Amino acid sequence: MFPDRPEIVARHRRRGAGAYRYSLFLLLLWLSASLLMGQRYPWIVVMDPGHGGDDYGIRAGQGSFEKDINLLVARDFQHILSADPALDVLLTRENDRELSLRERAIQANNLSADLFISVHCAFSNRRVDRGFIVYFFQPEESQLSSFHELRSTGSHQDVRLVPWDLAQLPAAPASRDLATRLQNALNRMHGKYSGSPVGEQLELLSKVACPAVLIECCFLTNSEDERQIMDPFYRRRFAEAVRDSIMDFLTTHQYSASGRQP
Ligand SMILES: [Zn+2]
Repeated sequence: MFPDRPEIVARHRRRGAGAYRYSLFLLLLWLSASLLMGQRYPWIVVMDPGHGGDDYGIRAGQGSFEKDINLLVARDFQHILSADPALDVLLTRENDRELSLRERAIQANNLSADLFISVHCAFSNRRVDRGFIVYFFQPEESQLSSFHELRSTGSHQDVRLVPWDLAQLPAAPASRDLATRLQNALNRMHGKYSGSPVGEQLELLSKVACPAVLIECCFLTNSEDERQIMDPFYRRRFAEAVRDSIMDFLTTHQYSASGRQP
């Protein structure tokens, strides 16, 4: 369904003058219609339920599989977030099927996602560990220098080419901010079991060309966390906290991966 673009993430910056004038006309027409109708163009949020198919993820003490809980949580996110007309929420998988990390990133980039959130559960050898962890991509020094070099040489081209593995770098500071907002909101919700967002070299996030985080939404090695995440009312509060942080983030940054005005 989504054609692979293995080497680059390309964004068209400029077209011919005729096409540009025509696009401008359509944009003005659309803006006028939107203003008259009181509508905004929705931000695209891609939710990514981790694992699936033969990849079960963590097996919880009560026998549930992480892949199923991830899908349950992501569907709740989609349900709660989609009620806001400013957000258009799409899932990388809607059922129990296996997807590679690369396929997940390709979906987000091809959809011009404005935000990407991967949903997982945590594992710990210490059964008392509870709560949430929000991850963002922490670039290495060598990746930052390759990216700066690329930017200084390629800025006058009509098409900006970014190697697949550097796709996250332009959005990395925003991803860190989003992770902090989400972690703070979830800490407030959970109260007792709070932590800090964690920067990691996560392969999945490195390939996504918009602010991107990975949320571990509970510890499946803790029986109380497992019981809680299976409770629909708890998941609703969880999704509402995520939605509020996302709206805060998007309105603060007025972020738009595709360049359109939200
Ligand atoms: Zn996982």
